[in-house]
Amino acid sequence: MTLFDVYALFDIEPVKARGSYIWDRKGNQYLDLYGGHAVISIGHSHPHYVHALKQQLDQIAYYSNSVKNPLQVRLAEKLGQMSGYPDYQLFLCNSGAEANENALKLASLVTGRKMVIAFSRAFHGRTSGAVAVTDNPKIQAPFNTGHAISFVPLNDAGAFNEALSDQVAAVIIEGIQGVGGIHLPEDSFLQLVAAQCAKNGTLLILDEVQSGYGRTGKFFAHQYAGIRPDLITTAKGMGNGFPIGGVLIAPGIKAWQGMLGTTFGGSYLAATAGLSVLEVLEQEDLLENATRVGSFLMKELSALPLIGEVRGKGLMIGFDLPEALSGLRMDLLTKHNIFTGDAKPRTIRLLPSLTLTMDQASYFLEELEEELKLVTEAQQD
Ligand code: PLP
Repeated sequence: MTLFDVYALFDIEPVKARGSYIWDRKGNQYLDLYGGHAVISIGHSHPHYVHALKQQLDQIAYYSNSVKNPLQVRLAEKLGQMSGYPDYQLFLCNSGAEANENALKLASLVTGRKMVIAFSRAFHGRTSGAVAVTDNPKIQAPFNTGHAISFVPLNDAGAFNEALSDQVAAVIIEGIQGVGGIHLPEDSFLQLVAAQCAKNGTLLILDEVQSGYGRTGKFFAHQYAGIRPDLITTAKGMGNGFPIGGVLIAPGIKAWQGMLGTTFGGSYLAATAGLSVLEVLEQEDLLENATRVGSFLMKELSALPLIGEVRGKGLMIGFDLPEALSGLRMDLLTKHNIFTGDAKPRTIRLLPSLTLTMDQASYFLEELEEELKLVTEAQQD
């Protein structure tokens, strides 16, 4: 059997990783400013996380959701306390798409409606409902197109008000758009969306799969706007690489048995990974570090020649490139051993571990400047 060839692969084979570094089979060391796509929150193979998972593996790794699992309860309590949502309920699943799929389903079950409002450039995952609210027809199959979705430009209050009615089950919006190229909803826009949803009996779903778990310096990005969504979805950084996702559900939404379900969600190993991530975020004050190192990076990037707009918060940063720098991501990787992310058409995305140090950030800026100098010199010739 061969692998189904859906991924464009770098010619790199990582064999070891620690903190913000990765080593490949040939012994080359890389600085990881991509975090495997915003997944590595507390640093690769953090000792506390590795120890907790190894110990749990020796006890019990898995049983179904038909028995009591105190680790899930501890995870829900700690997440509630650290995120500022102690009165919410937690449904555990395995990925970002699954979290969004369940949030959309819940909103529809609660309201009895099926229309959803999503936003231009949104990305919410690849399962049926999640891909239907994703603004990219290229990754939708005919099977996914039967949903009643209305796409509205981000931060366009007029268009949003026009699309909203008492027929709309949910509005789904990213805390900061990630795949779309690091685009921020304005605080005033989020406040308007939240108020209008409440008025229309529509549930507000905040997709914090990429922007959550401390990446922006607050636990969730939407907390800068001071709103409280009905449903908040999370995954990626939640398990630092162990597959785990969740839906935070407002207290007014009542569960009934069989309403939602999943085989693997919240297994002993997943809950242990989730708990140890929260413990490290707290013990090492990583939200503060994300704010500090992220502000430094954004300030320095904004002062560099050739770099276009710099957008983001904390350690979720995007910067636009001119045509002459379209090969920058590959150059950073192959010439400087630095992993970064990208977004179309020409945006570099930085989504490093929240443990990134000022020295590592400065090193990246120095290497970047070297590349910019080469392009400037070539332009002058
Ligand atoms: N939502 C957002 C905002 C994402 O960035 C992603 C993945 O990139 C997803 C959902 C889907 O998550 P997963 O790939 O875990 O299904």
